[in-house]
Amino acid sequence: MSLDTPTAPGETTAQAPRLEVAHLSCVFDGREVVRDVSFRVAPGEIMCLLGPSGCGKSTTLRVIAGIERQSAGSVHADGKMLCNEVFSTPPEARGIGLIFQDFALFPHLTVGQNVSFGLRGPKARVQARVGELLERVDLVGYADKTPHMLSGGEQQRVALARALAPRPRIMLMDEPFSGLDNRLRDGIRDETLQLLKEEGTAVVLVTHEPEEAMRMADQIALMRDGQIVQKGAPYNIYNAPCDKAAAAFFSDIN
Ligand code: ADP
Ligand code: MG
Repeated sequence: MSLDTPTAPGETTAQAPRLEVAHLSCVFDGREVVRDVSFRVAPGEIMCLLGPSGCGKSTTLRVIAGIERQSAGSVHADGKMLCNEVFSTPPEARGIGLIFQDFALFPHLTVGQNVSFGLRGPKARVQARVGELLERVDLVGYADKTPHMLSGGEQQRVALARALAPRPRIMLMDEPFSGLDNRLRDGIRDETLQLLKEEGTAVVLVTHEPEEAMRMADQIALMRDGQIVQKGAPYNIYNAPCDKAAAAFFSDIN
């Protein structure tokens, strides 16, 4: 395809970012809780939305997922529009994986059934994918166990395998590690990051912890009062915070 070939509606271009959020705003009860938020995420890249509680991080994620509607702005994936002010692709048709803090597994299903829940196709292929994922999250031999037999960290890894199973182009993670104790957290965070990079998934990770953003992000979008106040590589933001409040926010890291 030559570069000047026009792109038909619904067609994608090689140049388009995996995820593009443009000028997103959300008004609740007359209050603008997300204001003109824009960012792009490439395949295999981790974008961290970082900011204090109430600054609009989760609302931004919910709009991208399609479970909340924006007042203005648009979301595109691989150049294809997912939603704008008047149009919305249903959440299940967006090719987006979600992991939230309370990563609830289906308690009555086995680990294997949880991981294969969103998969369609021949049984052998589904089983192979489940086996591959359980291996990657280091849970070989767990397929027939039920969630109540697992520790918090193990359940978290099952949730990760389940979210990755249908090979989402985009993964949205809302404070996914905050329920884990410190001892487990570092290992699970690093494994998760590795897995998502290998799968080439574009990740938006929400956190209120600067240390977590510094450790995991390729890019950080620092949010305050619904807006992105600074965007860039972790060490650039850490070394040159845009104002005193941003500097204070990072000052707890040791
Ligand atoms: P964060 O994830 O950064 O803590 P949220 O996106 O959850 O922030 O919330 C941003 C603001 O929007 C908060 O003041 C919250 O109370 C408000 N809010 C979130 N969802 C709704 C809703 N559905 N209706 C009204 N207000 C909401
Ligand atoms: Mg939140």
